[in-house]
Amino acid sequence: MITRDDVLAWLNSFRRVLAENKTYLTELDSAIGDADHGINMDRGFGAVEAKLPSVANNDIASILKTVGMTLVSTVGGAGGPLYGTFFMRAGAAVAGKTELSAADFLAALDAGLAGVQQRGKATTGEKTMIDALTPARDAMRTAAENGSSIGEALRAATTAAEQGMKATIPMLATKGRASYLGERSIGHQDPGATSSYLMLKCAADTWSKL
Ligand code: ADP
Ligand code: MG
Repeated sequence: MITRDDVLAWLNSFRRVLAENKTYLTELDSAIGDADHGINMDRGFGAVEAKLPSVANNDIASILKTVGMTLVSTVGGAGGPLYGTFFMRAGAAVAGKTELSAADFLAALDAGLAGVQQRGKATTGEKTMIDALTPARDAMRTAAENGSSIGEALRAATTAAEQGMKATIPMLATKGRASYLGERSIGHQDPGATSSYLMLKCAADTWSKL
């Protein structure tokens, strides 16, 4: 089971990985956007890191909702509110739980993704974070239904997210800033799909023994 401390460890690991990948994510966004995705995510999770100690004794749902609200209030543009929605919805999906099974984490991922889709009005194939999150959710569902451990399920989800991230390279962007480039968006990896892959990889690495 994923405990509250495991959730905090995952969030802190994602915060570190975003700091390490700040330049990389911003470079990806400079090719098809406005060169701020790494800066946005690093700023948002810097604020999350500062906020987490004050809610560390709360339940998992409250922690995830706080992450979401912090991102919405500290990050502008598209990415911050979309990640904010992801975490707020993920938290709401696990209300009242003191620890999470693979099926519970799947429910959180599924609700978070549905929130991103609703807010951003995008679907798969439009060269966004949805193209990493959707195959991850699907792989997580298959693994959870087959009785995989949490670690195995997250590894499968991460592999699927990585494939989804790479599959954004040949896509034509039809949502977000990258869509302004039209055909010139083709041939570049989507920054939001990349940060979403990193988020799942952090979960898989942090929870590898669960
Ligand atoms: P902005 O585009 O406002 O500068 P960021 O650079 O932080 O915000 O985030 C860009 C990422 O947001 C994109 O790479 C894409 O993955 C994601 N994105 C943009 N628009 C949408 C949308 N409508 N639905 C889902 N994801 C989106
Ligand atoms: Mg940007």
